[in-house]
Amino acid sequence: MDYETIICFEIHVELNTETKLFCRCSTRYGAPPNSQVCPICTGQPGALPVLNRKAVEYCVRAGKATHCSINRTSGFARKNYFYPDLPKGYQISQYERPFCEKGYLEITGDDGNPYAVGIRRIHLEEDAGKLVHSANSFEESDYSLVDYNRSGVPLLEIVADHTRNHLHSVHEARSYLEKMRQILRYIEVSDCTIEQGQFRCDVNISIRPKGTQSFGNRAEIKNMASFKSIMDALEYEIKRQVKTLESRGQIFQETRLFDEEKRVTVPMRSKEDAPDYRYFPDPDLVDIEIDEAYVQHIQNSMPELPEETVNRLTEEFGIPINDARILVKDKSIADFFAACAGYCEDTEKLSRWIIKELFKLLNEASMPIQKCPVSPEAFSQLINSVSKGEITDNIGRTVLEEMFKTGGSPDSIIDERGLTPIHDTNALERLLDEVMEENSQVASQINQGMAKPIDFLIGQVMKKTQGRANPKKARELLHKRLPHFS
Ligand SMILES: [Zn+2]
Repeated sequence: MDYETIICFEIHVELNTETKLFCRCSTRYGAPPNSQVCPICTGQPGALPVLNRKAVEYCVRAGKATHCSINRTSGFARKNYFYPDLPKGYQISQYERPFCEKGYLEITGDDGNPYAVGIRRIHLEEDAGKLVHSANSFEESDYSLVDYNRSGVPLLEIVADHTRNHLHSVHEARSYLEKMRQILRYIEVSDCTIEQGQFRCDVNISIRPKGTQSFGNRAEIKNMASFKSIMDALEYEIKRQVKTLESRGQIFQETRLFDEEKRVTVPMRSKEDAPDYRYFPDPDLVDIEIDEAYVQHIQNSMPELPEETVNRLTEEFGIPINDARILVKDKSIADFFAACAGYCEDTEKLSRWIIKELFKLLNEASMPIQKCPVSPEAFSQLINSVSKGEITDNIGRTVLEEMFKTGGSPDSIIDERGLTPIHDTNALERLLDEVMEENSQVASQINQGMAKPIDFLIGQVMKKTQGRANPKKARELLHKRLPHFS
């Protein structure tokens, strides 16, 4: 039987506000444990929360970027549960009245066409603290430590809509996560660094026989540390569910964990054990009224979205749309390109060199472009030298490698390494004399009208000079000597 897969994400995104959601503690990552805490974010009696205005702005920004409608009145609710990383015994979240609802995110669907994935809601809530368990797992340890630095950091929760344009495959799931992360970075609400827990997701997954309308029981998978784990967990879970139904087994509504070592999902708790959070409006916080002018202001001050950047790069700099799409995958790369483009005449060569040569070096060094030792000025100088034919592509690559290592300018590296190009007519003539003499047979073939060996002779000149001869000029000079080709 054929099955349809229904995938639905809940994404948690840590906002990059300076301070926490309800107090003025810093949100800086990596500070010593419990150094960024106060009575509010550690839940001391009598402490009162005060809402961070910036976090609301970022939430509305995320809503507008994903075509949500913004609720005029919103409010916070208490989600009650008990866990040592939650000092108040409840988390301040949003329940019935989130800031944003009913949006969509456009991805490329499995059939290659644009597909608008439904988003049910985006709301704001506070993060919990972090438990630190004994580092030595062999040693019996009867305690764990808790770090409240993360307690109260603002989180966006973005919930996809399983009833409206859901995701059908692992491939669509990946596109959705990548696009979401890209947009959140573009609108500058979060760095979405997965390793620092700034972009985390839980996923619901169910299958149903193709053509049926009712949903099958769904499994929720938690605890996935990377994009790869999410994709592996989905692959595994789809196969497991199909196999279960094929063998007339039953799929239970349950929460499962992904075992990072065995690469399988394992049951964690069934629906019956699901906690009842007893939500109720938080009496310490007033409702928030959002008026049209405020939404308009956010819309007007919204940074450029990825598709807009693609349009700008193709229109302003005339580069191919596929190159532009690759460059905008990471905002910092698009920014690097734009910074270089101001100094470059051949912007198409510029984009090719970023995509082919610079990416290669960055990948090899596992370095983000923000830390790239080559400045846009130096990179454009190099591209200009290559596109004017002053140096060959090969020498250009050698120079770029050195620039990447030392951060030096192309001119000084060309000087130091003796890579100065040979443009001098007399010198080039002498070189041509030499190679024609050494390859007299080839030279006579050319004299008889054969064009192909010309490349061979130029190749010999390049070889003799370790690529320093100006090939364009050498070719011109050679043509002049050969009446057939002048
Ligand atoms: Zn605090």
